[in-house]
Amino acid sequence: MRDAKLAVETGVDGLDVVIGTSSFLREHSHGKDMAYIEKTAIEVIEYIKSKGLEVRCKSCSPSHSDPRLHPEIPEISPMQQCPDEIGCGALTSSAVSSEDSFRSDLVDLLSLYKAVDKVGVHRVGIADTVGCATPRQVYDLVRTLRGVVSCDIETHFHNDTGCAVANAYCALEAGATHIDTSVLGIGERNGITPLGGLMARMVVTAPEYVKSKYKLHKLKEIEDMVAEAVQINVPFNNPITGFCAFTHKAGIHAKAILNNPSTYEILDPADFGLTRYVHFASRLTGWNAVKTRVKQLGLSMTDDQVKEWYVTRASWALGTRKY
Ligand SMILES: [Zn+2]
Repeated sequence: MRDAKLAVETGVDGLDVVIGTSSFLREHSHGKDMAYIEKTAIEVIEYIKSKGLEVRCKSCSPSHSDPRLHPEIPEISPMQQCPDEIGCGALTSSAVSSEDSFRSDLVDLLSLYKAVDKVGVHRVGIADTVGCATPRQVYDLVRTLRGVVSCDIETHFHNDTGCAVANAYCALEAGATHIDTSVLGIGERNGITPLGGLMARMVVTAPEYVKSKYKLHKLKEIEDMVAEAVQINVPFNNPITGFCAFTHKAGIHAKAILNNPSTYEILDPADFGLTRYVHFASRLTGWNAVKTRVKQLGLSMTDDQVKEWYVTRASWALGTRKY
C-alpha cells in the first residue's frame, strides 16, 4: 500500500500491482500467505479507484469467449515492462499480476483473481517467471482463468525452455488479451517472448489484420537500433530479420523459390520491407540459381554454358578439381 500511495502521488495514470503467488516465492521471497495477498490486493485496488484513476473493466464479448475463432483480437504489448523485474508500469489502468503463476496453486490463483475482478480491476496477469510452462499448460490455465474473470488477461512468458513464442500464441488462443514482449526478447536471463518472433507467428495466422495493425516494415529498424544500443548481435537465425531468414541455398529449394516463393516461404519478406536472397555461390546451390543470376546480370549464356560453369565451380567446392 505504501508503494501504491507513493506511485499515485507521482501522477501516473494507473498502477500494475504484482505479487508472487507460488509456494517458492511465498516461502522464500516475501513470506506472505494467500489470505494476506488477497486482502492487500483488494485494499490497493480500492485505494487506486478511490483516487479516480481509470479502471477499465471490460466484459467479454462472444468473440472474446471463443478466441480460437478470432485470433486477431489480442493486443501485443511491445516493450512492456517485466512485472517480475519491475513492479510498476505506466499503464492507463490498474492491473494485478501474479509472479511464478505456473508453480502456484490453481485454486489460490483463481480465488485471488476472482476477488480482484469483482472489485473492478482492469486486468489480471499471469507470468511464467522461470520459463517452465508448456503450451498445453498455458492454454489450460488461461482458458480456465477466462472462465473466471471478465477483465483483460495479460501474460508474460520467459524463454528458458524455448517456448516463449509458442506459449504466447497458445495464451492468445485461450483468451488472453495482452502479451508482454520485448525487442529481440531481451529480458532477465534469456529473456521473454520476442516481438519479432510473435509477429512472425501472428502474421501467418491473421495476415490482413496483423499487416494493417502493425508497422511490420519497422521491425528490422527497431531491432537493429536496440541491438546497437545494448551492443549485441541479432542472431543469424532470428525470425524475419536474421541473416538466414530469407536466404535459400539448397538447389531443390532455390529452383522452386525462383518459380514460386510460397513453395518454401511461409512469410513474405516484402511485408517486412525485406528481400529474399538466393545464394548462387554456395556448394549447395543448383544450376538454376546460377542461371537466374546470369539473367539478372544481363549476360548471355546458354543452359549448357551455365551447367558447365556450375559443374566446374562445384568441383572446386568439393575439392575434386584444383586450378
Ligand atoms: Zn519477467
